[in-house]
Amino acid sequence: MINLKDFNYPELERWVRKQGWKKFRAKQLSKWIYTKKAGSYDEMTDLSKDIRNYLKENTKLNALELITYEKSKEDGSIKLLWRLEDSHTVETVFIPERDHYTLCVSTQVGCAVGCTFCFTTKDGLIRNLTTSEIIDQYIQTQRFVGLDKRISNVVFMGMGEPLANYDNVKKAVQIMTDEKMLGLSNRKITISSSGIIHQIKKMYEDPTFPQVRLAVSLNAPDQKIREKIMPISQTNRIEDLMKTLNSLPMKTGYRIMLEYVLIKDINDRPEDAHKLARLIGKNKKRYKVNLIPFNPFPGSPYQRPDEERVNIFHKILWQYNIGAFVRWSKGKDISAACGQLRKKEIANKSIQFIKS
Ligand code: SF4
Repeated sequence: MINLKDFNYPELERWVRKQGWKKFRAKQLSKWIYTKKAGSYDEMTDLSKDIRNYLKENTKLNALELITYEKSKEDGSIKLLWRLEDSHTVETVFIPERDHYTLCVSTQVGCAVGCTFCFTTKDGLIRNLTTSEIIDQYIQTQRFVGLDKRISNVVFMGMGEPLANYDNVKKAVQIMTDEKMLGLSNRKITISSSGIIHQIKKMYEDPTFPQVRLAVSLNAPDQKIREKIMPISQTNRIEDLMKTLNSLPMKTGYRIMLEYVLIKDINDRPEDAHKLARLIGKNKKRYKVNLIPFNPFPGSPYQRPDEERVNIFHKILWQYNIGAFVRWSKGKDISAACGQLRKKEIANKSIQFIKS
């Protein structure tokens, strides 16, 4: 059965016409689904009963079911765990920021990339999420937190490598940025990739992929360290990755974000900071560096560096005039590592509900 959230606007219009309905029905449906975030066809009161019945019998509106959530007492972030139709589960994180709300969405069940510091990849890739499963993370979270807390920013930084699920992610971004659908600003959407060079090139060369921000998980200042913590580096070498990033056409104000998870004694030494600065070289206007102190999870082989070490690393980058920021993970008091709440549920351990 088709799910209406798998359609971008031209596809929705085509489907509406195929049913023998007038074109404006697409607009009506879009308003109910994306503006009003309707959770059922019964809410769509300006559609005739016949149409609503037809929709109920032939289409699906929802793709996810909320299983549980954890809310951080520290910063108000909420981690939600969803069940998909085939019983797999994925996570989404709602993050209140100083003046807006951000949503971190997942794009795959599991991940094949295999970064050694990441919890999500432990069981490998199970499957790609469909467009409706990505979009429903936004819509259902918005319903959950209340429409008054409008989520303006979306980061594709949850479970999975977004560019390995290219077509479904592209369509989700089309739906998010289409004014007739979710209508979010392109500047407020960030795709975060582990650095699959040919997919990054493809995205930039694809005129149908809305221009959004790019973040790349760099995590190392040289090939040797990167290969150790990101096996994908064996085929996507750091020099080639940087060469590609340095040559991407840049829209004004769209800096590429280099994500750098700081891991104690692996990539957090002062000489690593100097090397990173040299790697960026004269292209510093093109990048922003996000330093993320590692978030340990049960069984992880790595440790978080202490604050002093993080500050030294940060300062060195600033000495080179590189825009670098430290991002301590949100929700440290909940299952903060990506995929951890999911694992907890699978292990059927008791989850502590913290009601707002
Ligand atoms: S960090 Fe991202 S790309 Fe790497 S294994 Fe985890 S989910 Fe996959």
